[in-house]
Amino acid sequence: MAGSNRAQTAFLAMNTVVSHTAYGRRAGQALLAAQRETERLEKLFSRFLPDSDIARLNRSAGGEGVRVAHETLAVLRLGLECALQTEGCFNPAVGPLVRLWHTPLIKPSQPEIETARALSDVQTLQLQARGRKARLARAGQSVDLGGIAKGYAADRMVEIFRRHGVRSAFTDFGGNVAVLGAKPDGSPFTVGIRHPQRENSLIGALSVTDQSVVTSGDDQRAVPGADGGCHSHIIDPRTGLPANSGLLSVTVVSPSSALADALATALFIAGIADGVRFLKRFPGTQAVFIDQDASVSITAGLAPCFQAAQGTRTTVL
Ligand code: AMP
Ligand code: MG
Repeated sequence: MAGSNRAQTAFLAMNTVVSHTAYGRRAGQALLAAQRETERLEKLFSRFLPDSDIARLNRSAGGEGVRVAHETLAVLRLGLECALQTEGCFNPAVGPLVRLWHTPLIKPSQPEIETARALSDVQTLQLQARGRKARLARAGQSVDLGGIAKGYAADRMVEIFRRHGVRSAFTDFGGNVAVLGAKPDGSPFTVGIRHPQRENSLIGALSVTDQSVVTSGDDQRAVPGADGGCHSHIIDPRTGLPANSGLLSVTVVSPSSALADALATALFIAGIADGVRFLKRFPGTQAVFIDQDASVSITAGLAPCFQAAQGTRTTVL
């Protein structure tokens, strides 16, 4: 942390590097609270921590279900809503497919894919507001919040900053960015969008205030495949295969980071045409699509705030 008005932290959590920057008199205190909250949420959402809500839910699959924290219920509920509105592209019950495709260099057989696809049926994830219960109806099912949890956490960070009187802050969960207000000088924050094919280079940048900017793509976490290539860590639950829409990355802009996170994952699977259709179901959301040839398409609402890197072709959808 540095200076009296600006505080910064960086630490490892949720399988990534988390960093927060906040401005204001109580910025330091806000960041301590934010870190504690991140750790608390990870203990609820991680499927790798045996006592987490999600690990308990997954262990109980096929049984009665478990009581979960209201944060867990909220994130699962948003996950189900996104599953509905993205016609199954986003799927919080995608655990069996994620696990199947996780092992590098081994291509699953068609019967294995079919079994995991059937088990990833989102309809069998049941939530009960009364009693705060979540249930997976069939044994072998599992929830994976990898596509939404960081966004949910980023929203919570913004709430914590606000509660501490912070009016200007930037939070980054490994590329899942949310900003509170504008920079202290009143100008918008700039969020870079990585060039999916070039190391350490940006393909463009967005100027934003009070927004979240979340990118999904297969450049950083692709899994080496049996055929010598790589496949995405994002799985299309409709086919049971790794996402293959031709996009290199999708960035979603929305005031809600949880929504931006889920939609970025879904749109990466859906491609541009269906992606734009899905976005219309969520007022206030916008996107930047990067195609195979690194050409950029943006939704109209981003035209005033997107700046392309030199030499990048941009189409306004
Ligand atoms: P993101 O980086 O937000 O796109 O999330 C990718 C992670 O979400 C993966 O590593 C999986 O844990 C999980 N995931 C993969 N496919 C899906 C899907 N179709 N719907 C929801 N989550 C997914
Ligand atoms: Mg996501």
